[in-house]
Amino acid sequence: MAATEPLVIATKAVEPLATPPDFLDTFDPMKKPVEKDYAMIVGPEEPNLSPRIGGSADLRSTMASLIESCWGVWLSILISCIGVHDRLDSEDRCRRYAPSYVAASIILKSERPVDECSLINCSCNLHVAASYSFLSAYLITHFSEFQLATIGTFLIHESVYFLSGLPTLYFERSGLFRKYKIQKKVNTPEVQWRCILRLVLYHVCVNLPLMLISYPTFRFMGLRSSLPLPPWSVIVSQIIFYFIVEDFVFYWGHRILHTKWLYQHVHSVHHEHATPFGLTSEYAHPAEILFLGFATILGPALTGPHLFTLWLWVIVRVLETVEAHSGYHFPWSPSNFIPLYGGADFHDYHHRLLYTKSGNYSSTFTYVDWIFGTDKGYWKLKAVEEVEGKKY
Ligand SMILES: [Zn+2]
Ligand SMILES: [Zn+2]
Repeated sequence: MAATEPLVIATKAVEPLATPPDFLDTFDPMKKPVEKDYAMIVGPEEPNLSPRIGGSADLRSTMASLIESCWGVWLSILISCIGVHDRLDSEDRCRRYAPSYVAASIILKSERPVDECSLINCSCNLHVAASYSFLSAYLITHFSEFQLATIGTFLIHESVYFLSGLPTLYFERSGLFRKYKIQKKVNTPEVQWRCILRLVLYHVCVNLPLMLISYPTFRFMGLRSSLPLPPWSVIVSQIIFYFIVEDFVFYWGHRILHTKWLYQHVHSVHHEHATPFGLTSEYAHPAEILFLGFATILGPALTGPHLFTLWLWVIVRVLETVEAHSGYHFPWSPSNFIPLYGGADFHDYHHRLLYTKSGNYSSTFTYVDWIFGTDKGYWKLKAVEEVEGKKY
């Protein structure tokens, strides 16, 4: 019964409820919460309610102050490690992948030198990298780097974003997998279409120009598209690094967006959807797209990646944010398998509450919210749901 005790405390201290919930198309994000029982359970936040990590408030505050005081140092060390890793590995990479690059350049009748590494005479077997080397060689011999880094990145982003958002749109309309839907409310086709049309407008008018004007910066920071491609160890370590950087910067940017003025004038657009679906993940005020887009491109800008790595980062980041807004928690959702991964249930909670007590500000992982104590309401709700055996 210990886990139910906070319920009593919470009902006493909870803020007065806004107007009754008249789901949700006329929903005003400044007047959450919408579900009375739910709001009463969450109540004021309390310490030590992070069962995934555990630990004391002392440990949490020590980690928080360490990060606040030294995060720049940690960031520099990480960047150096990844940069060194890339350089040290390049010679070995040339030897291993050389045959596939030679084959690619012959087949494509390339007039541009693929890379000096491809001239290395090496007796290695063809690597599985040959297949993606062919594709890369085709692209770099038919398009300029500027075209690939701007239009190419834009097209990849749009394709992955809209295709990955479609399945949950269909699930909502058809009722398929209803038992895995986190909230009861179903978005109407009108709401879905309005979201899609605004997204297309924002993507063309904001995202695309942003990609065009940021190209010189990426070039300056070391973006390259030539062969050889980086080895998978470098690609994977850089993408993990991008996730860590993005999550941390996003957390603080997002938390600042929950201050009154910024929420009212900027971030409330994203929170128009208290019951999010995949395509609402990038439904936001143009200023927010610029503000939080910075978190997405900071990691790549710092490490100067290969274009192939940048594309992979865009793909996995889009898939991650669409999943987090999908509104469905499946048995196969990544949060069931990846430690410290937030996922749909974690972020769905953020969309349901009044903006001053949303919590769960991180984009990908749960640990930054734990460190700074902004996940307590969520874990409190989970504890109550477990005891009562039902979902709120
Ligand atoms: Zn928010
Ligand atoms: Zn969101």
